[in-house]
Amino acid sequence: MWRASVLTIFPEMFPGPLGLSLAGKALAAGVWALEAIDIRAHAIDKHSTVDDTPAGGGPGMVMKADVLAAAIDAAAADTRPRLLMSPRGAPLTQARVKALAGGDGVVVVCGRYEGVDERLIAARGLEEVSLGDYVLSGGEIAALALIDACVRLIPGVMGKQASGAEESFADGLLEYPQYTRPAVFEGQGIPEALTSGDHAKVAAWRQAEAERLTRERRPDLWAAYQKRAKGPNS
Ligand code: SAH
Repeated sequence: MWRASVLTIFPEMFPGPLGLSLAGKALAAGVWALEAIDIRAHAIDKHSTVDDTPAGGGPGMVMKADVLAAAIDAAAADTRPRLLMSPRGAPLTQARVKALAGGDGVVVVCGRYEGVDERLIAARGLEEVSLGDYVLSGGEIAALALIDACVRLIPGVMGKQASGAEESFADGLLEYPQYTRPAVFEGQGIPEALTSGDHAKVAAWRQAEAERLTRERRPDLWAAYQKRAKGPNS
């Protein structure tokens, strides 16, 4: 079973939104498992301290290496990847999500304050993963996003919808536009190709629209897509 262990000083934030909808149903059904580990329970002083002032001075607090190490050691005596949510990490991609979803699960450390003691990252082999180039107040929302993206790919969680073949990023392109009834909305119809009943025509329209949107909105993805299409040796 795919298992997520989340280390946090706010265990009450979990499962949170992951307890609802299809992910929540699959969680209740035992298709995947989630464990929130309270870092504070591993504090070693009588005040349950988890943070201290930064060496070298400056604002804020830093999460203590010794407390975090004790929490990780109690949680994760297995081979699951150990991630640290961090704005300094490699930005999360659908390819990485797919790889994580195909494994045994994840151990996710959620930072707070100014972040965690650098020595802990190396000592416990944490891989830093970012949700994007902006700063959250803690790693919990990032962890929820990462786990959500993984869980929807686990067989039996979403059924056919997340088969992945036609979704954004699956083939390096953004997804084509979607429409449903009514046939006319505020004077706007649905593109004729989609109502033609001609499967080849539908597929061609969707491919062309996916390419157009990617070209217009994500020059970075478009350049990578074109490079792949031309083959690695050209
Ligand atoms: N001082 C740090 C930011 C700390 S924010 C810096 O400038 O890099 C507090 C915590 O929120 C971080 O330790 C991390 O766990 C989480 N966090 C903030 N932004 C994030 C992001 N973009 N992706 C993943 N985690 C993030």
